Amino acid sequence: MKLPYIIIVDDDEQVLRAIQRDIRNEYREEYKIAATESALEALELIKELKLKNETAALFISDQKMPEMEGIAFLEKANEIFPDAKKILLTAYSDIEAAIKAINTVKLDYYLLKPWHPPEEKLFPVINDLLDDWHALYKPDFEAIRIIGFQWSPKSHRVKEFLSGNLIPYIWMDIEANTDAEKYLNSANAAEKTDLPLIVLKDGSFMKDPSLPELAAGIGLQQKATKEMYDVLIIGAGPAGLAASVYGSCEGLKTILIEQSSPGGQAGNSARIENYLGFPTGLSGGELTRRAVSQTLRFGTEVLTPQEVKSITVKDGYKVTEMMDGTVIHSKAIVIATGASYARLDIPGLENFTGAGVYYGSASVEAHACRDEIIYIAGGGNSACQAAMYLSKFAMRIILWKI
Ligand SMILES: Cc1cc2nc3c(=O)[nH]c(=O)nc-3n(C[C@H](O)[C@H](O)[C@H](O)COP(=O)(O)OP(=O)(O)OC[C@H]3O[C@@H](n4cnc5c(N)ncnc54)[C@H](O)[C@@H]3O)c2cc1C
Repeated sequence: MKLPYIIIVDDDEQVLRAIQRDIRNEYREEYKIAATESALEALELIKELKLKNETAALFISDQKMPEMEGIAFLEKANEIFPDAKKILLTAYSDIEAAIKAINTVKLDYYLLKPWHPPEEKLFPVINDLLDDWHALYKPDFEAIRIIGFQWSPKSHRVKEFLSGNLIPYIWMDIEANTDAEKYLNSANAAEKTDLPLIVLKDGSFMKDPSLPELAAGIGLQQKATKEMYDVLIIGAGPAGLAASVYGSCEGLKTILIEQSSPGGQAGNSARIENYLGFPTGLSGGELTRRAVSQTLRFGTEVLTPQEVKSITVKDGYKVTEMMDGTVIHSKAIVIATGASYARLDIPGLENFTGAGVYYGSASVEAHACRDEIIYIAGGGNSACQAAMYLSKFAMRIILWKI
């Protein structure tokens, strides 16, 4: 894989050299690092990289520069590599401009100069942003492929499951992507009965798998490994994930059961702006990814997809039975099953769920609706937020207040 770029711009030669040195020392094994005093030169380089099929993961720019301000530079760079992360280097006097830039150019972070010691003030911020970038970046040859029909609930279910579990995939619409046919032929799969076809990274494939089969194929944990847990948590929305982090970080044997994919309702949110500690906001997907890696790091076992069927008490212990008949013993249970969506009461609508009718506005739905006219039912803040997000993809949005 080609190494992604980190591009640094600062017209002050001394500052540029200092940040370039710190970034090189820490990241040169995994990234190519380009640094320049000229914003115009940096933009030329960025265009060239795009043509050469290279990629940029991070832009770091000074704010006050003679050729153009850092915010303007980041805005232009963002047009070419929209997924790259953006950091503005600021002096104390530029903070107001930096805070405005959080909204105007979706700035990811503003870094006050000087940033010493970098181990405390620079690297943690950059590590975090690069982790985020990697989680969403989909290099062409390394992802799972899903081949199916665009307006198929089965294909949507698989896309939703993979994206909810933060597993990158490449979607290939059989009617629009000429390469899709080749995969179908190699797997000896029939269009009518075998879609969606899933091609794994090692070239093996699965024809129209159930979610548990798919989860097993991609290596997601579905069975408990211990005889007994201190705490079993049902539901991996924000509440269940938070409970699991607190449980396992206190040394409790903790297991988290999720029937679909972690994140819960929050996983469907395009942008959450009121979470403490995230001044620039973050998507539900990002929040979930952070929470899942945090809880796994503390040793929580996460089983997905597994649905809890019943709970009984035997000899003072709780016995939780799953839909697949397996049971897990625990001393305590936290139920964090959240809320269910209100469904639209329109006859026949259920048949189109996942095939043009969606409950949510995360990136899976957004990509499905590219260049289409979208009707959004609802008039609360989630509906308006969805309208803002989907407007980047759709031809037109019509909001119905119901
Ligand atoms: C589109 C949208 C945007 C939102 N934006 C914001 C926002 O910007 N800011 C904000 O503060 N809030 C926002 N919310 C609300 C926020 O997402 C919810 O308050 C939050 O997700 C509730 O968390 P929870 O963990 O209690 O429940 P949920 O998120 O509902 O999670 C419950 C989980 O339990 C699982 N589950 C249920 N039953 C079982 C079972 N039997 N076995 C196994 N698993 C089970 C479900 O699959 C689900 O994953 C938004 C909600 C939506 C839908």
